[in-house]
Amino acid sequence: MFSLETMDIDLLALKEDSYEASVMLDKDFFLSLDDAQIQDGRVNAKLLIRKAATEEFTLTISVEGTVMVQCDLCLEDMEQPVKAESSYIVKLGQNPSEDEDIIIVDENEGILSTAWLVYETIVLAIPIKHVHAPGKCNDAMIKKLQELSATRSGDEIAEDTIDPRWAALAQLKN
Ligand SMILES: [Zn+2]
Repeated sequence: MFSLETMDIDLLALKEDSYEASVMLDKDFFLSLDDAQIQDGRVNAKLLIRKAATEEFTLTISVEGTVMVQCDLCLEDMEQPVKAESSYIVKLGQNPSEDEDIIIVDENEGILSTAWLVYETIVLAIPIKHVHAPGKCNDAMIKKLQELSATRSGDEIAEDTIDPRWAALAQLKN
């Protein structure tokens, strides 16, 4: 199992003004996160932390790789390439931050947990619409889905025509 703590950065122990780490994330990483929507993928994550002031740092997360998501058309798994970068301001302090771009790390512990930040960076890199490359969809599945939606709209029409209130009105007219 992947240990999310390996992605923690001890800010109080930083010896240099900048620190860089690189980690290869796979299925184990996604499964280690509770309730993560993405369950599988292969993503290289780079973490860069720079000291900006006495108790202030900048964190830059770069991700590049592929994740498994559900195709919008055939609902089967597909590989979605992702590439993105996100930046945060990290401050040592006591009170929680109200600005979501500023992360407050307990000044006594100094431990910055990056696992969920990396995950969020990956999620934001996934386009809203994701479908297989042309011809790569599961045609049988699409056909089934189309049949299902056709049946569903057919039901609605049928319900309209046999609505008893309309039938009663129609009889009154006659
Ligand atoms: Zn598909």
